Amino acid sequence: MLKTYKYRLYPTKKQIAKLEETIETCRLVYNSALSDRREYYRETGKSLSRIKQQENLKNYKKDRPFLQEIHSQVLQNVLFRVEKAFDNFFRRIKEKKGKPGYPRFKGKDRYDSFTYPQQGGFQITQHGLKLSKIGTIKIKMHRSIPITIKTCTIKREIDRWYASFVVDYVFVDQPVQQSPIGIDVGINAFAVLSNGDIIDNPKYLTKSEKQLVKKQRRVSRKKTGSENRRKARIALAKQHRKIRNQRSDFHHKLSRSLANLYNPIIVESLNIKGMVKNHHLAKSISDAGWGQFLSYLTCKAEEAGSRIEKVAPRYTSINCSNCGSPVPKTLSERIHKCPFCNIVLDRDHNAAINILQKSTVGTTEIHAWGDLISTLSPKT
Ligand SMILES: [Zn+2]
Repeated sequence: MLKTYKYRLYPTKKQIAKLEETIETCRLVYNSALSDRREYYRETGKSLSRIKQQENLKNYKKDRPFLQEIHSQVLQNVLFRVEKAFDNFFRRIKEKKGKPGYPRFKGKDRYDSFTYPQQGGFQITQHGLKLSKIGTIKIKMHRSIPITIKTCTIKREIDRWYASFVVDYVFVDQPVQQSPIGIDVGINAFAVLSNGDIIDNPKYLTKSEKQLVKKQRRVSRKKTGSENRRKARIALAKQHRKIRNQRSDFHHKLSRSLANLYNPIIVESLNIKGMVKNHHLAKSISDAGWGQFLSYLTCKAEEAGSRIEKVAPRYTSINCSNCGSPVPKTLSERIHKCPFCNIVLDRDHNAAINILQKSTVGTTEIHAWGDLISTLSPKT
């Protein structure tokens, strides 16, 4: 499986100028390669191959020194991008799905990255990310990366720079441990585990969300079309990005630690889109970003050699996890209080145990979990 690792870059002003220049040159090459293909097709009815375009590029370079400023493989990668755009176009024609959309010229705000397709053009050193023809840029390696990097893409996002490395990932074959766990989507908390652990949304995220509301208000208070409104909107966009990044970071860390501790991990096969339509749940679910978390968790479990099992969500919040009797409750009832066996549990904890018990491994664990619950229950 190909996996992407993304890191923030901290280029100096001089380096930013160089990065901007590289993107701009790549954009020009992209547009002229696209135009060459269009013309060639108009004249001959055939498509111009990438190999032919590479030869042309070599010839252009001779008397255009600004092209020599760019690493040759970075330029070649631009031709790959053009080829891909045409391949996608022809595929859409074949599939006859809607308008095929002829490949377009890229405007200044539509081109924001360039790629080193092979090691050699780039190198991670102890001083930073060394880019051929650009220099060594400070990079924040917040997590380690396998040695076998395939490609390196430098990307601009509003006012920030990032490096994305694509790595061919090899999975661990053997699961490390056998310790099953059920996870329930929390309504108050982010999630509740079948062992009773409650995972709250981190405080810094809640703080940032309060900031978001403030900044949203600020935008609506400014006059439409004014410079101040534009500034407030940029501040709002940055706040949104901050939350996105914080949430994604939280999801990464949590899914990593769950995948390392438990196997298999049992979750409900939730129809997230369907749930978001239900306005009671909509806010908490969209905010918590369950879809993203589950996809991270699936990926990390695979890496750790553990397994994700999805079970049908039917009755998991209604049934009693201790005696199996149905105990209907409204969404606002936070406690599961069983009138049949007298057990008292947090409703999400009860659901998490049900989820675990629904799995193929869960049945053998019922007794153990039942013992645990009765020690928690004040009435038994
Ligand atoms: Zn019961």
